[in-house]
Amino acid sequence: MPADYHTHTPLCRHAEGEPEPFVDAALLAGMTEYGISDHAPCMPEPFDEWRMLSSELPDYFEWIERARTRAAGRIPVRAGLECDWLGGCEKWIAELASRYEWDYLIGSVHYLSDWDFDNPKWLGRWAECDVDAVWAHYWKTYAAMAESGIFDILGHPDLVKKFGYAPQGDLDCFYEPVIDAIAASGSVIELNTAGWHKPCAEAYPAPRFLELACSAGIGLVISSDAHQPSDVGRDFPRAIEIAKAAGYRETTLFDKRKRRSELLV
Ligand code: ZN
Ligand code: FE
Ligand code: FE
Ligand code: ZN
Repeated sequence: MPADYHTHTPLCRHAEGEPEPFVDAALLAGMTEYGISDHAPCMPEPFDEWRMLSSELPDYFEWIERARTRAAGRIPVRAGLECDWLGGCEKWIAELASRYEWDYLIGSVHYLSDWDFDNPKWLGRWAECDVDAVWAHYWKTYAAMAESGIFDILGHPDLVKKFGYAPQGDLDCFYEPVIDAIAASGSVIELNTAGWHKPCAEAYPAPRFLELACSAGIGLVISSDAHQPSDVGRDFPRAIEIAKAAGYRETTLFDKRKRRSELLV
């Protein structure tokens, strides 16, 4: 089973479970590697209610160490962060990158201006918005994140569809510019299985996006975005089928921000 690099810890205030059951779940699922990538601190603090504070980074490092102790060499435990792409965040991300020997950094777009659009708390705003305009804003932001080149992995590519709001018709006009930007950046994307359990009922990204990404030579990881131990490796067999149907034959592994590939089986 491929590595699962996108998983959370209780430090983000909306995930649960100790390191031990997370590692046990990864072992049981037969993942090649288990990676931890909790929601990174954002500046200025306090930023929002769904992430760790920068003062909690030592607790995060300790959490990772506990997972490594549990794994006892049976599975590599990789250390990462899920960072938010926000205007002008590059300096802060560089600062975070220097604080620990990370294996990878995931970049995610959860914010459009001041709106964390994937937060169910603001679902009402979706009902009133211009969906096409929000989509255009989202993909422009996502392309800018890719162009920054500061992330190893780009998270849940079409998260904007989470609550089922999407423009009518062919979506390639949204996908194509961002595919070009990602391919030029050299970052890899993730196929994130959490979308199957959201109103959109589809993994992130859509099969068509994945097909375009594969044709453009963009690398892939498969992720669960686990917020509890039982989510680790969730729906991976189904994700492997989808990745293969899009043309993928391998996934990417990260070790201290250096990559290699493994066969997709
Ligand atoms: Zn989360
Ligand atoms: Fe996310
Ligand atoms: Fe996440
Ligand atoms: Zn995520």
